[in-house]
Amino acid sequence: MKLRLTLLLLSLSGAASAQDSLFARHLVDTLTSSYFWGRGYTRDGMGKTSDFISGQFKSYGLQPLNGKDFIQPFSFNVNTFPGAMNIALNGKPLIPGLDFLVAAESRGIKCKGKLIKQDSVHFIDPQDRIIITLRDKLTWDVDQGTADYTAIDLLKSNFKDQPSSIDINVESKLVPGFKTGNICGMIRGTAKPDSFIVMTAHYDHLGGMGDKTYFPGANDNASGISELLSLARYYALHPQPYSMVFICFSGEEAALLGSKYFSENPLIPLKNIRFLVNMDMLGTGEEGVTAVNATVYPKEFALLKLANDDGHYLVKVASRGKAPNSDHYWFSEKGVPAFFIYTMGGIKAYHDVYDVSKTLPLNEYNHLFKLLVAFNAALMKDNTVLANKN
Ligand SMILES: [Zn+2]
Repeated sequence: MKLRLTLLLLSLSGAASAQDSLFARHLVDTLTSSYFWGRGYTRDGMGKTSDFISGQFKSYGLQPLNGKDFIQPFSFNVNTFPGAMNIALNGKPLIPGLDFLVAAESRGIKCKGKLIKQDSVHFIDPQDRIIITLRDKLTWDVDQGTADYTAIDLLKSNFKDQPSSIDINVESKLVPGFKTGNICGMIRGTAKPDSFIVMTAHYDHLGGMGDKTYFPGANDNASGISELLSLARYYALHPQPYSMVFICFSGEEAALLGSKYFSENPLIPLKNIRFLVNMDMLGTGEEGVTAVNATVYPKEFALLKLANDDGHYLVKVASRGKAPNSDHYWFSEKGVPAFFIYTMGGIKAYHDVYDVSKTLPLNEYNHLFKLLVAFNAALMKDNTVLANKN
């Protein structure tokens, strides 16, 4: 009888987990679809994403953090590639994203030129200011300005001949003051509404390179956004003693700009933030997770480890020191205790066209969800740490 009940309970929790995983998969599929065009700077990808997330917040019943709407607007300059993206080398047309990337700072150009070998990996057309670099892996980026040259990264394994001639038509456009915003919502605390637990994730990615190629960013960071939305939906149904704040940052890929803006223009007093957890690249986890800033906040890291040991969630919770590698950075620099959590193991796609939903396992999604809920509960219970802080 006992065994039967245990099995029944197991299958019940299994059903709930399966449903949550479906919710996560659906969100990652949605956010990586061509409609959102890599959540970037062309085809209104970022604007559509911010509308979508605001709609989700509203449907869960979150309140706008500023009391009016979910958006905290800001802007920055960005170099974009809205149109033509055609390159042929030695008369052979190349496929954008697969064979080559145009470096994010590149100026647009339309010409035919001769290439001169500089060394084993560099080929240049000095007249047209074109630089070709042979690479073992293609990795894209975002740049806030336009350079006075065109730089092309060529995947070595896809082009065996020595580049000698180029036929290029690449369109670039500098957008001054590109308008975007952070999406900020809250669930008011039941006992201590002026104390905050903050969950963050960036929703922007790299966008598109030309009119046929976009970067889906399934792991980076549709995975983090889907985890954040799951938590927001859960906490809306289960209000906590502290106010739970959810922030989806923009401009992360352009140098952590959204989080910088929020940390300099906070919508809540930074000193009232008990803890901030930033989630970026959560789509794997077979080798566990890493917490950046673990060595800076050892007491909270002990709570995180304890929560994981109690629940047997992830195979490992690894400790890492301070690193300016995601949106937690500006907060901990201002004295807000914060971790940046990312998963380990699995796929290696990063800032390329292969970071797609289809190959993203999302295998530890439910465990991570449970770990974060347990960690937040421990933070709200742990008065000793809070007393030390005040
Ligand atoms: Zn990221």
